[in-house]
This record gives sequence, C-alpha cells and structure tokens, in this order.
Amino acid sequence: MNSQSDLERITEELERYRGRDPELSRLIDLYQEVFRVQESTRLKARSAPGIVFDEARRRLSSGHFILKGRGLNIDAGLFREAALALGEVFSRVSGDRFPSQEILALPQLRPEAISGFASDILSNRVDYLNQFAMGTDFNEETVFLFLYSLVVPFFQAEAENYRGIIKESGWKRGFCPFCGSLPRYARFHQEDGRRILFCPLCRSQWRFPRLSCPFCGNSDHKKLGHFYLSEDKAHRADVCNKCQRYIKTTDERSLGREVIPQVEDAVSLPLDYLAAREGYQRDA
Ligand SMILES: [Zn+2]
Ligand SMILES: [Zn+2]
Repeated sequence: MNSQSDLERITEELERYRGRDPELSRLIDLYQEVFRVQESTRLKARSAPGIVFDEARRRLSSGHFILKGRGLNIDAGLFREAALALGEVFSRVSGDRFPSQEILALPQLRPEAISGFASDILSNRVDYLNQFAMGTDFNEETVFLFLYSLVVPFFQAEAENYRGIIKESGWKRGFCPFCGSLPRYARFHQEDGRRILFCPLCRSQWRFPRLSCPFCGNSDHKKLGHFYLSEDKAHRADVCNKCQRYIKTTDERSLGREVIPQVEDAVSLPLDYLAAREGYQRDA
C-alpha cells in the first residue's frame, strides 16, 4: 500500500458510496466508526506469527486451514479497550447505551476465556448471546455484530502474517485458508476478472474458480446465475440454485479500481434484501 493509510482508503471508499446513495448515510456512519476502531485495534494487535511458517505451509498443502484445531491468542487488555471503544460507537449510533460492560462481565468473556470465545465465534457456538440480549435494549443480531466486529481485528492481525504463504500455496477451496470461515464477499480483479473471495473474520483473500459455487462446489453452469440490484452492473449477487446460497460480488473492471471487500459488503445491503426475497441464503 502507498503512503495513504488503510483507514484513509476505507474512509475515501465509504464517502464515494455516501455520495451515490444518501439512504445509506446512517449505515455508513456506523461502519466508518466500526472500521476506525478495528483499524486502531489491528495495528496494536500485530505480533509475531503464532504458528511457524513450515507448519502453516504443511497445513495448507494438506487442505487444512492454518488455524484448524488451534485457538487465537488475544491480549485481554487490548480486547477490553477495543470493546469499550466499540461499545461507545454502538451507543452513539443507536442513541441507547450499549451494554459493553455487561458483555465483558459474561463468563465466556473473562480475560482467561477470551481465546476460547474467539473459537466459539468461529464455530458459531454462541447461543448464550440470545439469552443475554433478551435482558437488554438490543437484539441478538446487534449483540452478535458487536462481538464479531470486536474479534475481527485480532484475527486479521494474525492472518496478515501468513499472506505470503497463503498466496504461494495456491489455495482454491471454498473456505478461508487462515480461519476456515465461509467467504462473505467476492471481487473480480480489475486486471483480468479473476475471482477472489474474501473472509469476513480475518479478511484474508484467496482465488477461486469463477464458474463454481464456493459453498457446495456445484459447477453445473445451468444451476449458477447472478442478478443485479438495478442498473449498477458493478455490484451483483452470484447465486447457486443447487444449495440456494449467494455471494455478493464487485466487478472491479466496471469500476476501474481495486475495492475494499468489507466496505463493499457494508454498502451493498440492499442486495442482501433482494437475495433474501428471492429465497437465497447468505451462507451456512
Ligand atoms: Zn478467515
Ligand atoms: Zn452451491
């Protein structure tokens, strides 16, 4: 990346979309603040890789994601600092006090339990959040969004250590080479249209065949399709009529620039509504 910081690029991209669609303004306000907290946390969370490169290479070459069977070490002090900062964002945007202190008091989030909690988020074993949310002014989805957004920079900081190895490995599976999550967004590269998938948790990116469903592996073109929201041909949802799932995609060749998948994902919410109306599910 050049002299412009990642956060400056993110902000610039968000502002582009705000100008284009004023209805997204409130959502963009939220994400701008979330990304700011995430970026500052990511920079502080950077550390030496927890898994030696040879071991990481071995895992990838045998088809396993790097973090499989391993926890992520999370610094409890930094986690708390980030949780309070993110809680302020959620309070400000919603106008109600967000219960970040109460969340931090949950047994699953005690300092010694945080690494286990990160694994729970990864495997979606967070049923207790439902019960917790019932005692607050926020719904379960918002509480989950808060916690998910909170762990992202820790996963991202560690995943960045393996970027070179992941690229070398030629990984082409339907799940993230670092953390094993299902992809959440895709882009068609501006140079040649190659398809690159994006992980929402650790923000790794990897190449994947254009004419294949990342979720079920279906490559029968008669069962694959895509649709657009309107005349905007740069943003689309690629759907699979075998597993009924979809992945949103930006065609960078239409935009003439490289995009930031977490920004594209945030600003393309109307495509999610349309996909849901058409009976498609986002992932698992
Ligand atoms: Zn990942
Ligand atoms: Zn499928």
